[in-house]
Amino acid sequence: MNDEIESVLITKEELSERITQLGQQIYDDYIDEPIFALCILRGSFMFFADLVRNIGKPVEVAFLHAASYFEGTESSGHVEIDKHMVDVSGKNLIIIEDIIDSGRTLAALIEHFKELNPNSIKVCTLLDKPERRVVPIDVDYVGFEVPDEFVVGYGLDYDQKYRNLPFIGILKREIYS
Ligand code: 5GP
Ligand code: MG
Repeated sequence: MNDEIESVLITKEELSERITQLGQQIYDDYIDEPIFALCILRGSFMFFADLVRNIGKPVEVAFLHAASYFEGTESSGHVEIDKHMVDVSGKNLIIIEDIIDSGRTLAALIEHFKELNPNSIKVCTLLDKPERRVVPIDVDYVGFEVPDEFVVGYGLDYDQKYRNLPFIGILKREIYS
């Protein structure tokens, strides 16, 4: 698996250090407020599990499946959200994402959840590719800005592979071209 990775972009240690900081920042921002953290599956599962462990107060957790349909490594713009069973009314929702690329997935999620009357909505993403943005998004917490490369690992896949790598790496182009 590792020989299909061009280079390591963010090491395990860098991830851990940054996620500790993000957890502290969220703790400070919600000092007197309950938190409802929503994990967007599947890509965010590893980040989510590490992040909530670094928020030093009770956090309600929920999970939701969202898929942006891909042609190879390009998002088609079609976003499907599995909307059942997440009751956010009156909650301080923090949407936890793996990566923001065009912004279409998050725009669809935010539009959906706004209608369900949460007390507040914030967005936390591990990775952000600002150069690729098509839909503007207000992002409250960003782990790392990354260049316009297709990245895998630490939850992120290509064709359902590489999610269990402990680091973020750039996939060799020959794998997907
Ligand atoms: P957006 O809707 O912002 O274009 O795309 C967001 C989704 O596309 C992410 O949640 C992720 O699933 C996928 N995605 C975007 N860029 C990458 C990337 O570099 N690597 C991987 N593995 N997935 C990506
Ligand atoms: Mg995703």
